Amino acid sequence: MSPTIHIGGLQAFSSIDYPGELAAVVFLQGCPWRCGYCHNPELQSRQAEVYMDWPQLEAFLQQRRGLLDAVVFSGGEPTLQPSLVQALQSIQAMGFKTGLHSAGCYPERLAAALPHLNWVGLDIKALPQDYPALTTTPRSGKAAWVSLQLLLASPSAHEIRITLDPSLFEQERLPRLLQALHQAGVNNLALQQLNPPPADPQGQQKAQLQRLLNDFSGQFSQLILRGP
Ligand code: SF4
Repeated sequence: MSPTIHIGGLQAFSSIDYPGELAAVVFLQGCPWRCGYCHNPELQSRQAEVYMDWPQLEAFLQQRRGLLDAVVFSGGEPTLQPSLVQALQSIQAMGFKTGLHSAGCYPERLAAALPHLNWVGLDIKALPQDYPALTTTPRSGKAAWVSLQLLLASPSAHEIRITLDPSLFEQERLPRLLQALHQAGVNNLALQQLNPPPADPQGQQKAQLQRLLNDFSGQFSQLILRGP
């Protein structure tokens, strides 16, 4: 039986969504959170039109064998999909590596998917108590930080990402977040700028970022700033 997943879009070819590999990116429909800076708001609703069904995706991927290395499930929040594990198993059976972009909304579902994932990019948006202001969802911070612990304890290759919402530049939130991630055991961290970046006429955010990169570079194996 085909996995039941709601595909909202497809990027046939990407060199930036799975480190070092050429990947197709499959955007899965639906997300339980409502971040103000969401990069794909059209994927938030669970009700939207289906872009392609599973047999169509499988037929597309069969044609790409030998041309692509990996398939990345992105969103939306891919762990929302009830058949994500079955979908990952099918992708691996076709000979592709599997990747996932997640905000960690559903720790138990992430735990079930991890044995079938070769690489995960996990968004950590803030310290747990600061999440509801960003996601408009109670207890979202706890879910994301439990997901972080699960990912760090798994053998899956991964990258932790922070999206640089302007609120993170207030009240020392960003340095406190980096310190907490270091203490949690994160090694590979990317700071991702919004697209377009927020106004910074005095250059204060730029200066704070430069200080952070200098101050924390010794605490992570990789600490990068990723622009839009
Ligand atoms: S968790 Fe990600 S997909 Fe969901 S609303 Fe926030 S930014 Fe958008």
